[in-house]
Amino acid sequence: MTLPIFLVGARGCGKTTVGLALALAQGCEFIDTDHWLQEEVKQSIATIVDNEGWDGFRAKETAALEAVTAPARVIATGGGIVLSEYNRRFMREKGVVIYLCAPVSVLADRLEAFPEEGQRPTLTGKPISEEVSEVLALRDALYREAAHYVVDAALPPEQVVTDIEAALQLARA
Ligand code: ADP
Ligand code: MG
Repeated sequence: MTLPIFLVGARGCGKTTVGLALALAQGCEFIDTDHWLQEEVKQSIATIVDNEGWDGFRAKETAALEAVTAPARVIATGGGIVLSEYNRRFMREKGVVIYLCAPVSVLADRLEAFPEEGQRPTLTGKPISEEVSEVLALRDALYREAAHYVVDAALPPEQVVTDIEAALQLARA
């Protein structure tokens, strides 16, 4: 049985990009928790947050995480999934957790080059690099706590996939 692989990290670290490539390479299914949730409730995350607040969204996010967790899946998680201790422990116990770690400058450059459309409300309304820096300062330790392996997500996607596959070999050994 192939354990589910959870990809965690900040917005722009490459969870979707790397996750799709990893799933292809591993012959796994790719699931994105944010995408799955929006399809399930037929609402954008922005609408869920508007209607139910962040706490309401976080509760739905945990339910989505549980629902999509299955063997032979690569699961890209939302950037804030690690805020919940329950989620961190759930992922560590149910699968292999990989932190796609990249410096603030890399994340900010990517988000500026490819702004997400209507995916999530801006968290603070501040300039991107400032926001990324503040969010990462709060979350980096939580990503590390959740993760079995940390990979350098500033490398090209193919290299990140290779590095994750090496980590998975260790996990399966
Ligand atoms: P996430 O799902 O973690 O928010 P994405 O996979 O959507 O991140 O990537 C955000 C942007 O950065 C996309 O435009 C993507 O093409 C680019 N990107 C992702 N990973 C890499 C990488 N390893 N090297 C260069 N660009 C990347
Ligand atoms: Mg994504």
